[in-house]
Amino acid sequence: MRLSQYFLPVLKETPKEAQIASHRLMLRAGMIQQSSAGIYSWLPLGKRVLDKIAAIVREEQDRAGALEILMPTLQPAEIWQESGRYDDYGAEMLRIQDRHKRDMLYGPTNEEQVTDIFRSHVRSYKALPLNLFHIQWKFRDEVRPRFGIMRGREFLMKDAYSFDLDGEGARIAYNKMFVSYLKTFARMGLTAIPMEADTGPIGGDMSHEFIILAETGESGVYFHKDWLKTDLLADINYDADLQPFVDRFTSIYARADEKHDPTNCPVANDDLMTMRGIEIGHIFYFGTKYSAAMGATVSGPDGKNLPVHMGSYGIGVSRLVGGIIEASHDDKGIIWPDSVAPFGVAVVNLKPGDAICDATCQSLYDSLAAAGHDPLLDDRDDRPGAKLAAMDLIGIPWQIVVGPRGMENGVVEVKRRKSGETREVSAELALTMVGLKL
Ligand code: ATP
Ligand code: MG
Repeated sequence: MRLSQYFLPVLKETPKEAQIASHRLMLRAGMIQQSSAGIYSWLPLGKRVLDKIAAIVREEQDRAGALEILMPTLQPAEIWQESGRYDDYGAEMLRIQDRHKRDMLYGPTNEEQVTDIFRSHVRSYKALPLNLFHIQWKFRDEVRPRFGIMRGREFLMKDAYSFDLDGEGARIAYNKMFVSYLKTFARMGLTAIPMEADTGPIGGDMSHEFIILAETGESGVYFHKDWLKTDLLADINYDADLQPFVDRFTSIYARADEKHDPTNCPVANDDLMTMRGIEIGHIFYFGTKYSAAMGATVSGPDGKNLPVHMGSYGIGVSRLVGGIIEASHDDKGIIWPDSVAPFGVAVVNLKPGDAICDATCQSLYDSLAAAGHDPLLDDRDDRPGAKLAAMDLIGIPWQIVVGPRGMENGVVEVKRRKSGETREVSAELALTMVGLKL
C-alpha cells in the first residue's frame, strides 16, 4: 500500500474525550471514528487490525474443531420468549418492530438462535459432539459505553456454542475451548489469565473469564504471583485428554471479583497479586438451560430423548484491538505485535523525488509485497520527522528508512518498533532482517 493513496486520517492533537491510552491512540492513528455513543466506524487501518484478529480467532476455533456459521444480527422475539430471556434481558436489549409489527431484536448474544438451528436438524446423539461458532456484530445498550471500542454498544464478538450428550462430553468441549483461548491470546502477544467467575444471569456450573492485566481494566482481579511465570505456549494436541493441562492452569489461584474476601483466600498475602484487568473472553458451561426450555433434545444410545448439554464461549474481537494496545504501547504510539499489525513492514522514503531513494524504496516494496509481507510505503511529501513519528504512532513493527545520506553509503536504516533499536545495513540485509528469505 502506498501511503499517498491511502486513507489515514491521523490526528495531531490528543482527543479530549478519550480517557485511556487505547482509545486515544485508536483515534489519533485514524483507526476508528465515533458515529454515536458506543458505536464506531472502522477506518482502513483499524479494519485491517480487526480482520487480522478475527482471522487468528477463526483459525484457532477451527483447530479446536468448531465449525463456522453466520447467524443474523436481527432475531425474532419468539425464540427469546421461549427461553424466558425476552423479559429478563432488560434495557440492554435493543428491541425493534418490523413493518408488520413483528417484534424483533438486535442480538446481544445467540444462544436462542443457535439452539433453534440445532433443534431443527439434529435428532440423534450420533451427530454429537458439535460446536458451532460465528463472528458477528452484537448490540447491547450498555448503561455506560466508554473507553472507545472497549465497552461499545455495537461490538464484534466471536461466539461458539457446544452441544453434547452429557456433562462428561460437555466438559471435554469446555476444555477444548479453554485451551484454544490460551493459544488464541498467546498468538496476539497477550498473557490472558483464566479466572473463575460468577456465572451471573446466564446460570450454570462452570465459567472462566479470560483477563489481561491493565491498570485501566474494569475488573478487579486477584491471583497467585506464580501466574506471572507460567508458560502458556505449551504444544497441545486436541485429541489428547486436556484435563491435566486445564488443571495445571486452574490450580493456580486466580479470581475476578469486585471485592476480595481475604478470609476465604487460600493464598498467603505475600503471594497474592491484586490488580485490574480487561475481560477479553468468557466461557460457560450451562447444562440444559436452553435446550430443555426450547426442546433441543437428541435420542441417546438407549433410545431415550434427552436435552443436550450446552456451553457458550465468547471472545471480544473488537475489544481485543483496544486490549492489545493497552498491553503494548509507549509514549510515541502503538506497538503492534507482528501477528496483528495492520502492515508488517513500512518502507519510509525520506526524500520522494530523489531518483536513488525512489528506486530503492520501490525495489524493497516489491520484494516485500511478493513475499506477502503487507508492506506500507510512505511516499508522501512531508517532513522526515513527521513521517517517522507517524510510523511510530501507528505502530508498524519493522520500519526500513531510506534517505539520501544513507544512500551515499549504500545503506538503509532498519528499526524495530518494539525495542527502538536501529541498524544501518544494505537493502538486501534489511530484507533478511524483517524476515524475508532471500
Ligand atoms: P462485561 O462484563 O465486560 O460486560 P460480559 O460478561 O457481558 O462482559 P459476555 O457476554 O461474556 O461479556 O461476552 C463475551 C465477550 O464479549 C466478553 O468477554 C468481552 O470481551 C466482549 N464484550 C462484552 N460486552 C462488550 C462491550 N460492551 N463492548 C465490547 N466488547 C464486549
Ligand atoms: Mg456485559
